[in-house]
Amino acid sequence: MNPLFKNFVFVILILLVVGGIFSLLYYPASAPTETSTTQLVGDINQGKVKKITVSGDTLDIVYNNDKTAVSMKETGTSVADLLNNLGVNKEALQKVQIDVKAAKEDLWSWLTPILIFGILPLVVFGFFFWTMIRQAKSGAVQVFDFTKAKARIFGAEGHGKEKITFKDVAGLKEAKEELVEIVDFLKFPKKYLAMGAKIPRGVLLVGSAGVGKTLLARAVAGEANVPFLSVSGSEFVEMFVGVGSARVRDLFQTAKKSSPSIIFIDELDAIGRHRGAGIGGGHDEREQTLNQILVEMDGFEKETGVIILAATNRPDILDPALLRPGRFDRKIILDPPDVHDREAILAIHSKDKPLAKDVNFKEVAERTPGFSGADLANVANEAALLTARQNKTQVDQKEFLDAIEKVLLGPERRSHLLSKKEKEIAAFHEAGHALVSTFSPNTEPVRKISIIARGMAAGYTLQVPSEEKKMKTKTGFISEIATLLGGCTAEKIKFGEMTTGASNDLARASELARRLVKEFGMSSLGLIAFGEKNEMVFLGKEISEQRNYSEKIAERIDEEVDMIIKEAQKQAEQILIKKKDLLDKVAKTLVEKEIIEREEFEKIIKGGNGKKA
Ligand code: ADP
Ligand code: ZN
Repeated sequence: MNPLFKNFVFVILILLVVGGIFSLLYYPASAPTETSTTQLVGDINQGKVKKITVSGDTLDIVYNNDKTAVSMKETGTSVADLLNNLGVNKEALQKVQIDVKAAKEDLWSWLTPILIFGILPLVVFGFFFWTMIRQAKSGAVQVFDFTKAKARIFGAEGHGKEKITFKDVAGLKEAKEELVEIVDFLKFPKKYLAMGAKIPRGVLLVGSAGVGKTLLARAVAGEANVPFLSVSGSEFVEMFVGVGSARVRDLFQTAKKSSPSIIFIDELDAIGRHRGAGIGGGHDEREQTLNQILVEMDGFEKETGVIILAATNRPDILDPALLRPGRFDRKIILDPPDVHDREAILAIHSKDKPLAKDVNFKEVAERTPGFSGADLANVANEAALLTARQNKTQVDQKEFLDAIEKVLLGPERRSHLLSKKEKEIAAFHEAGHALVSTFSPNTEPVRKISIIARGMAAGYTLQVPSEEKKMKTKTGFISEIATLLGGCTAEKIKFGEMTTGASNDLARASELARRLVKEFGMSSLGLIAFGEKNEMVFLGKEISEQRNYSEKIAERIDEEVDMIIKEAQKQAEQILIKKKDLLDKVAKTLVEKEIIEREEFEKIIKGGNGKKA
């Protein structure tokens, strides 16, 4: 049956019962005989009446023969007036005993309307409210849990068995080193305050999903042995305006009460998005919540031993106000685990699993490039599940390797699996990028080549500047463009034609060439900047360009761009034809391992040196 209908019936039933009870109270079952006042006067005159008790408007009459009766008088008139008006015999009346009592019945007569019109609706309303809360609670949205931040609190004492320390976090060495200071402050705040040192208030943990941001934050609390209040940014964004900010207030109050403590805000980007960047969203809930966080952080006293850790994987979209000094002014980047970290993570998560002798975490780690800590925890768990399903008593290496497949093909991972042929093409494409870059002048070393699909790209080649370079030369730019073209050039050399996989490369190469000519003055057109950029302030992005040059110049710009692209293309072709053997080798390794890290890539390059090793 429809639950709403059921409730409705229930409410009606309650109404009927309550109504029945009241009517019983209001009309007592043994109603005494009623007499009219005229009759009463007659009886008094005849000397039949012994006593009249007046309570309110009711007259209780007792006759000489002990019979009783009731009569009513008008409100406002006194009994004496009433009887006089009806022509009572004064002498007869004097024999009657008249008592005036506080209105006993009056109590009911004003209580009843209150009960019926006041309390009863409240009861009904309350019942409705109660059932709605119950339903809301069982559902996903807790609509009526208005202002309490649903912080999960792991108290200092309450860490108990769950207590997580840095030992439980594999890898992330640099992040841990930075956080040691925070731990020390939480443990010995006086030491720092005595020095007049400014203590960091907010620390931003930046890293992709599953790298261990939450884990690390909990470890900080565990190391310092302080309460850990955890909320998720998305929990603040509720359906009612004002709820989010009230929750923030509540959260900070709780934290201050149990100071020193740690507040952990997961998914900070859910609230901390750049204000005003969304089209159509003005002063909305998110903004109010964000403002409240800023207000609370600014209102911290120096002595408040509360430190806020926040996690995000999109630091780029955060509101700049959040990153100002005194707020989240520290940024700690968590890198995805490398081979050694992966091995260590596997070991941590297999601690209490019975392992067979042949288990080799190194091999598992080597086979799981790109896996996050969470993925690896999942692998260890899947391996145990597979073992249990086969009724074995120890987890073998085979289960671990099977578990990799399982996690890899898991529903939410790797949207884009390559076929064998696609994989080969992608391998040559990426190898092309890497080799052109390596053998071009003024380039950054290749850090990583991967053919694991990421977002739209089938693969990627990662170059990281060895040192921060702010200024670039034309040679450097040409090399960069050649590198971008290296992908499709390699495809052409190997397979005779290119695929659509290179379209993004081409767009980026053309844009770069165009900027070379128009912005950097690096062409035969000379040292002139062409085109005025219009920045659209509300989007924070430039979206249009004003042309401030003639049609003729436009033509020449196109020619120059074309020349630059051709030059870069020639460079890429020459390199790849000369290093054909290396190209084959890198591509083959990529097909096998899917990811080549810097050391291995450099080994191939050195070992090969153009000849087959
Ligand atoms: P995030 O908050 O970055 O999305 P979590 O901290 O929730 O990721 O990590 C999810 C799980 O993955 C953790 O509970 C832990 O079991 C595992 N994990 C992630 N990184 C590590 C690591 N470096 N060492 C050990 N376990 C890890
Ligand atoms: Zn490419």
